[in-house]
Amino acid sequence: MNTEEIIETAESKLIHTYNRYQIVLEKGQGVRLYDHNGKEYLDFGAGIAVFALGYNNKEYNDALKAQVDKLIHTSNYFYNEPAMEAACAVTKATGLDRVFFTNSGTEAIEGAIKLAKKYAYLKTGSTDHEIIAMKKSFHGRSMGALAVTGNKHYQEAFGPMIPGIKFADYNDLDSVKALINDKTCAIIFETVQGEGGIYPATEDFIKGVRQICDEKGILMILDEIQCGMGRTGTMFAYEQYGIKPDVVTIAKAIGCGVPLGAFVAKDEVAKALVPGDHGSTYGGNPLACAAAAKVFELFDKLNVLDNVKEVGAYLSDKLEELKSQNPLVVDHRGIGLIQGIELSVSPSEVIKKALDEGLILFSAGANVVRFVPPLVITKSDVDEMIEKLSKALNSVG
Ligand SMILES: *Cc1c(COP(=O)(O)O)cnc(C)c1O
Repeated sequence: MNTEEIIETAESKLIHTYNRYQIVLEKGQGVRLYDHNGKEYLDFGAGIAVFALGYNNKEYNDALKAQVDKLIHTSNYFYNEPAMEAACAVTKATGLDRVFFTNSGTEAIEGAIKLAKKYAYLKTGSTDHEIIAMKKSFHGRSMGALAVTGNKHYQEAFGPMIPGIKFADYNDLDSVKALINDKTCAIIFETVQGEGGIYPATEDFIKGVRQICDEKGILMILDEIQCGMGRTGTMFAYEQYGIKPDVVTIAKAIGCGVPLGAFVAKDEVAKALVPGDHGSTYGGNPLACAAAAKVFELFDKLNVLDNVKEVGAYLSDKLEELKSQNPLVVDHRGIGLIQGIELSVSPSEVIKKALDEGLILFSAGANVVRFVPPLVITKSDVDEMIEKLSKALNSVG
């Protein structure tokens, strides 16, 4: 089939929940993707902050292939070695004690919410607890995750939401304090808001929430599904604030393309969940966990964090430069390899022009172009991206 036929057939069979670009992607190599017609794209989206190691990494592929030939799935009624390895890697990297593996970020959020509820239930014997989430947040599309996603547009047609969720203003500690009462069992937010437009937490905010949670016995849940796994230059973004959450959610880059998520908790909290409370058929299966174990290993071996710090700082300089030169760019935010520029025009036009130039970018929020490339990109990739982006901006502006 040619590109048009593939797209036409797909559109006739798939539920139309995405306005897709008219491109059929076929293969990848390093930080480049190739479409069905052989056109090359520099990838600054990484499948939405997923493919951290770059495409077709031989060691990663080999690890997966070996696991395919050994064992793909077992059920969670048995142990498997890759899950043990991945659990060791995740707990070490997060500084937390126990992990539950899921198949997606959304499910990690669901699990974290259930954990918070059970933990509170064990303390008080009641279930009328409240959770504080943030406006402009994104935590996923299932009914629990949607309930803590502070975006009316996403929730509108799907009510009623699960009760007991209140929304504060991100980075406004007073707005959080105003919502706290005896029923509050958890405060959940992204360490760097991703979909909402690339807003990192301020130091005062995150430390302030930590202090309130400590004083009142409230669980602090950080969603690092997008900003974790090295994207900010440390394995988890919260490390840069010198704090630790009680629960962290992870997904996107942890499997580097193999569906995997996790919620990870302190021992005392994790123990609230007992057999029968939570489960998943696929969650933590040997294939996905072999991927994750290899991802952690390769992060070390390839010095991914050092690269993020160095190239992230370079990207930051280049985007500041672009902002000072181009009136369409009104703001620049972010850290490491999760950055964004706010535009005075619609990002979708710019993104379409960028695709013509052979550059893949995603938007975030209504007016932000987001940069979440594979974590192995180089400075010269950044230069090439800026050149293509400038052309795209000029053809719009
Ligand atoms: C992507 C994302 C989710 C949802 O993850 P899925 O794997 O799409 O279910 C949740 N929280 C944040 C911060 C995300 O970026």
